[in-house]
Amino acid sequence: MKNYSKYLKKKGNVIFLFHGVIDRNPFKIRNYTKKHLLKKEFIKVLNDLKKKGNCMSLDQVYDNIKNKKNFKDYSYSITFDDGFYNNYKIAAPILKKKKLHATFYVTTSFIQKNETSWIDKVEHMIEKVKTKKIINIFNQKFVINNNKNKISFLNSIRYLAKKDKTDFNKLVSNIKKQLGFNYKLNDLNNILDKKMNWNQVRKLNQCKYLTIGGHTVNHSILSFLNDRDAKKEIYNSIKAIKKNAKIKIKHYSYPEGLKHTFGKREIKLLKNKGIMMCPSAEFGFNNKNSNLFNLKRIFVNS
Ligand SMILES: [Zn+2]
Repeated sequence: MKNYSKYLKKKGNVIFLFHGVIDRNPFKIRNYTKKHLLKKEFIKVLNDLKKKGNCMSLDQVYDNIKNKKNFKDYSYSITFDDGFYNNYKIAAPILKKKKLHATFYVTTSFIQKNETSWIDKVEHMIEKVKTKKIINIFNQKFVINNNKNKISFLNSIRYLAKKDKTDFNKLVSNIKKQLGFNYKLNDLNNILDKKMNWNQVRKLNQCKYLTIGGHTVNHSILSFLNDRDAKKEIYNSIKAIKKNAKIKIKHYSYPEGLKHTFGKREIKLLKNKGIMMCPSAEFGFNNKNSNLFNLKRIFVNS
């Protein structure tokens, strides 16, 4: 496990980005990116941070930046993206026990329909491949017959799909067809795919250390969308959280979160709806002069 406290800065703030925490991984290739940490690894990361650092809620981070107040030395914040059930079941009790603040950004269709992101669907299918398969995609041919080339296919698809305005639904159906995959790809209930329900979202937010934020309706890359759809992704997600979990959110995070995935248009839409800050997934550190809609984060995955 990497020592994440080495990133903490004097008078600075680091926002850490997590996705999930699991107590075991029953799969062979799934979660090879360590998007979900094992519980014991998660505890190690937290203990290391807690020893050196000062954990802040994002409301406190907002207050520092808004008022141009220096951060306490070695400040950090904890965030989770997407709304996995294991956040509620495994991560939240640990955070509460350690009295650490955290923000959970939930994707509302994931909560509403127990939906799964395109890449998790692809991983799920590739995990289940038992005999040799060939996939032709993005003008390339991939042979899938062992764990090594399964992972190299997944790495390639992650990279290739980000290069252009990919239609992710089409991409998933195309791979599904080529693999002859006959099982369902939604409402998956294993520990890597299951999402929280509205009741669990509400319960998390009731804990004084934990806060809910938004992360769009469908986890679409906002900059790929036309104006109407970008507005819908943002506005409808905020509305759904208010209606179903009775929470008026002030926090949000951009899906994928890299530089090319958001811009002025998205920031304006978020501000219109009362969102006060939105971190990206670009690697880096924050200080009192940081832009509240372009805060940096550090992905915890090893
Ligand atoms: Zn996400």
